[in-house]
Amino acid sequence: MTSTASTVSSPGFTPRGQHLIDGAWLAGSGTFLSEPTEGAAQAFATGGRAEVDRAAAAADRAFDSYGASTRDERARFLDAIATAIEARGPAITAIGSRETGLPAARLEGERGRTVGQLRLFAGHIRAGDYLDRRQDAALPDRAPLPRPELRMIQRPIGPVAVFGASNFPLAFSTAGGDTAAALAAGCPVIVKGHPAHPGTGEIVAEAILEAITACDIDPGVFALIQGNTHDLGAALVTHPAMRAVGFTGSLGAGRALFDLCAARPEPIPFFGELGSINPVFLLPHALAARGTELARGWAASLTMGAGQFCTNPGVVVAIDGPDADGFVALATEALTATGPQTTLTAGIGAAYARGRARIAGIAGVTTHVLGDNAARRAAPGFFEVDAATWFAHPELADEVFGPAGLLVRVADADEMLRLARGLAGQLTCTLQMDAEDAGLAAALLPVLERKAGRILANGFPTGVEVADAMVHGGPYPASTNFGATSVGTLAIRRFLRPVCYQNLPVDLLPPDAR
Ligand code: NAP
Repeated sequence: MTSTASTVSSPGFTPRGQHLIDGAWLAGSGTFLSEPTEGAAQAFATGGRAEVDRAAAAADRAFDSYGASTRDERARFLDAIATAIEARGPAITAIGSRETGLPAARLEGERGRTVGQLRLFAGHIRAGDYLDRRQDAALPDRAPLPRPELRMIQRPIGPVAVFGASNFPLAFSTAGGDTAAALAAGCPVIVKGHPAHPGTGEIVAEAILEAITACDIDPGVFALIQGNTHDLGAALVTHPAMRAVGFTGSLGAGRALFDLCAARPEPIPFFGELGSINPVFLLPHALAARGTELARGWAASLTMGAGQFCTNPGVVVAIDGPDADGFVALATEALTATGPQTTLTAGIGAAYARGRARIAGIAGVTTHVLGDNAARRAAPGFFEVDAATWFAHPELADEVFGPAGLLVRVADADEMLRLARGLAGQLTCTLQMDAEDAGLAAALLPVLERKAGRILANGFPTGVEVADAMVHGGPYPASTNFGATSVGTLAIRRFLRPVCYQNLPVDLLPPDAR
C-alpha cells in the first residue's frame, strides 16, 4: 500500500501511521500503538528487515547523485527542510505535546533549534572550510625521488543510520542534529523513529519529503522507518549499505548497537551519545560568596525538563563545612518546592523511580528530598554521601535519567581532586569558582580535560549551544567516540572521510578539490 501525497498539515494533523521509504508512504506487516499523554493511542507500522533492505537500497542508489551534489545544492535542500518544518509549526507542537507531554513552549523552542541547526549547516557547507582542503605541490626535481602532486579534501562516507532520541523529539530526532550533519556532508539518511513520538517523526518526515520534491533530489536520500523492536535497530546497523550510525540514548542500548557495528564483517563507526552525570564542582570561595545562587541554580538545572537531559548535573561536589550545610538546606528547599513532572514515556518514569530507589537504598546515603512519583510523573530526589561512601560504591556514578541529584561532601581540596581523577568520561564538567579559587581550579582543569568534552565555569551544563566551537561528546561512556561531537558544526566530521588525489588530472577531480 503506497501513496506519495505531501501536503502541509494543519494543527489537527492525523498521522498516516506509515513509514516513508524512497519517497512513498508504506504500511508494514505489523503495527504498534503510540502512548500519548492525552488523546487516543494510534497504530503505527512496525518496520523490520524488509523495510531496512528497501530503504538501504534506495539510499545506496541516492548516494551516487547526492554524494556528488554541490555544496550549494545541499545547502538549498537543508534550507528547504527548515522552511517546510516551520510551515508545519503549530501542527508539530500539537502532536509533539500530545505524544511526549512536553510543554508547547519547550517544543516551540526545540523547533527553533532544529531549523536553526539545519540553516547553520547550510551556511557551514556554503563556506566550505569543513572540506579541510590541503595541497602539496609536485616537486618533479626533488632528489632522490620526485614528489607527486597531492590534494586532499573531505568526502561523504555514504548512507547513515540515525536513531531518533526520546528526549529531543525534534532537535535530536527525524530532522535533528545527526540528520542535518549527515545530509550536509552529502550522506543519505535512514532514521529509526523513536516509538515515544512516532506522529511527531512522521510530520517532520513529511516536511523532508516536501523539500526533496521541491529540490528535485533522489527520494532515496531520506527514509523514516517506524517501530518499537530491537530487531529493527539491529537490522539497520548491520545492513551492509550503512556506513555509520548516529545515536542518542541509554548506555545499554548504545553499547549493544556499538557492539553490533564492531562485529559486522565490515565494521562501521557508531557515534553514540550516551549521557553522563555531569559533575559540578563547588569551589570554596564561590560557595561561600554565592551559596544561595548556586543552590537555586543547580536545583533549576537539575529539574529542567523533568531532568531528562543528557547534560543534567546529577552530581555536585562540595568541601565539608557550614557553606556545604547551607547549600544542602537551600537546595532541599528549592527541590521540595518542585513538584512532579510528566516523563517522556512510562518506561522512562519507571526507570527513574527504580534509579532513585537504588540510590536511596545504598548504605551511607542520606536522603534530603524524595518527592512522590506517580505513573509517568517524576518528582525530584536529593541525596548526599561522604567521599568514603562515594569511593566504596561506584554505582553511585551511574546516570539516573530524571531529576535526581547527589551531593558528594569531600573533606578538602585533595579529596576533591581525587574524586575528579576517578571520574569516568563525561559530556561536561563544571567549575563554580571565584577569583580566589583560581589555584584549585588550575589544579582541577588538567584532570577534567581528560574526562569531559566540555568544561564550564560559573554556569550549569543544561542548555547546549549549537555553534562552531561546541563539543557535545566525551570519553566513554559519555560517548562511544571521544573524537566527535553530536552538536555544533563540528558534528559533520563524523560523516566525512579524507580522500587524497595523487597526480589526478584536474578535470577528473571533484569540483571542491580543483
Ligand atoms: P534507549 O532505550 O537507549 O533506546 C534508544 C533507541 O535504541 C530506541 O530507538 C530503541 O528502540 C533502540 N534500542 C534500544 N535497545 C536496543 C537494542 N538492544 N538493539 C537495538 N535497538 C535498541 O533510550 P530511550 O528509549 O530513549 O529511554 C530509555 C532510557 O535511556 C532512559 O530511561 C534513559 O536512562 C536513557 N536515555 C538517556 C539519554 C541521554 O541523553 N543520556 C537520552 C535518552 C534516553 P526499541 O526500543 O524500539 O528497540
